[in-house]
Amino acid sequence: MWKINHSYIDGAFVPVQGNETVQCINPATEEVIGTLTLADREDAKHAIAAASRAQVAMGRTSKAERIDMLEQLQAAVLASTNEIRDTAIEEYGAPFARAQWVSRYASQSFTNAALVLKHFDLSRSVGDATVVMEPVGVAALFAPWNSTAGTICSKLASAIAAGCASVIKPSELSPLQTTVLAQALHRAELPKGVFNILLGRGSDVGDEISASPLIAKVSFTGSTATGKLIARAGIETMKRVSLSLTGKSASIILDDADLDIAIPLALNAAFMNNGQACVAGTRLLVPRTHAEDIINRVKSLVGAMVVGNPQDPATALGPLVNRAQFDRVQAFIRRGQAQGATLIIGGEGRPTGLDKGYFVRPTVFADVSSDMDIAQEEIFGPVLSIIAYDSQEQAITIANASIYGLQAYVFTRQLERAQRLATQLQAGSVLINRISPELLAPFGGVKQSGVGREFGVFGLEAFLEAKSIVSD
Ligand code: NAD
Repeated sequence: MWKINHSYIDGAFVPVQGNETVQCINPATEEVIGTLTLADREDAKHAIAAASRAQVAMGRTSKAERIDMLEQLQAAVLASTNEIRDTAIEEYGAPFARAQWVSRYASQSFTNAALVLKHFDLSRSVGDATVVMEPVGVAALFAPWNSTAGTICSKLASAIAAGCASVIKPSELSPLQTTVLAQALHRAELPKGVFNILLGRGSDVGDEISASPLIAKVSFTGSTATGKLIARAGIETMKRVSLSLTGKSASIILDDADLDIAIPLALNAAFMNNGQACVAGTRLLVPRTHAEDIINRVKSLVGAMVVGNPQDPATALGPLVNRAQFDRVQAFIRRGQAQGATLIIGGEGRPTGLDKGYFVRPTVFADVSSDMDIAQEEIFGPVLSIIAYDSQEQAITIANASIYGLQAYVFTRQLERAQRLATQLQAGSVLINRISPELLAPFGGVKQSGVGREFGVFGLEAFLEAKSIVSD
């Protein structure tokens, strides 16, 4: 039984001052697996003060010192890879393969940031000026529950590389993942206060951090709705804000695609992390001439997906994170049918043989049009909408008919055709014939999927401010 009632402030685990305690429930079994006592605004103030004190020395660190810190963090997190994986499975039902990938990516983030910093010019000449790239100041790092370790480590890596101390607020839905990660980060033995971690509600701890005048930078990953609140709270003190937000990504199968390769990849993109991924390709755009064949193949592949125990590496789909998300996804499935989409497979209720746990039947709709809710809203569950198109131009129009623009996928045998098409897609990233990202390339959204970029050089620059020093 987990009992989580500490924050990590000023280099130590300290009891939280807040007095609200919530239960942690394993979504695969619905059993209570622990309790979490939430931090409150007072805890947040202490964390912010600790980071502000640490910022003084952190801001003066050399490139070599920051690279040392990143290497220490990498080693510490790498040593906890399996624990991080196992808590993601236990806490939100992450399927084994996904949990494994995220846990490895967490430590890799520090290696990547060290590499980027090594080759980055923190001072350069521009005309008569010397331009110095200075740390922006204390950063607030907000993470969602569906990618806790990966999100925290990639943000923290960029912050450290830039010379910024931070206050980290993971989701209150991810206390287990946060606890093992905090213990791992602590073992890196960085100077006190360089990072501080606390679990509390967004409406008080999150708000206290995002409104604080001592915070110079906010790097937020989460929903667009929350991102808007954070951006509004930050504008009062002109915080630098990076927002990685909601997605409704399109996967486009072109008429020349090898369907044996394209369809399994597209289904993987749609159902990754049990459909709870910002980059999930939840709109599958197919040429009308091939629609019947594709739908039949999709039906048979989805019908064969193993839904169940997320600890089993053979499981494709685990449960959704909690009862609220289960109910929400059920409501979307009903809405899809009510608005006239054709249910191909899946539907309401739990999969056969699973009578407890927040398991959803992997569900596919065809005859979906862009004006339906299932084509517009992020469902955050294993629900795929198939939309037929008559021409490549129409496919582009449909793909872009969204307020979001995080990622897009294109499947084709002709790389040049896909690269031309990519220039017309409104998305921060376009993946061609693959679904794994390039972690050194910039990541982020256009339109309401976000502001700014993370990862690599762009991720580092987001924590830096350019100062021009000009002399005769
Ligand atoms: P969320 O927006 O509910 O919460 C994200 C974080 O913000 C949590 O730590 C939460 O406690 C905090 N928060 C909530 N209200 C706040 C407030 N008023 N002030 C400050 N902080 C506040 O998102 P979630 O449910 O945890 O995650 C799912 C969402 O995140 C989905 O929309 C998904 O697409 C998105 N997401 C985006 C990316 C990306 O990189 N673009 C990655 C993962 C998840």
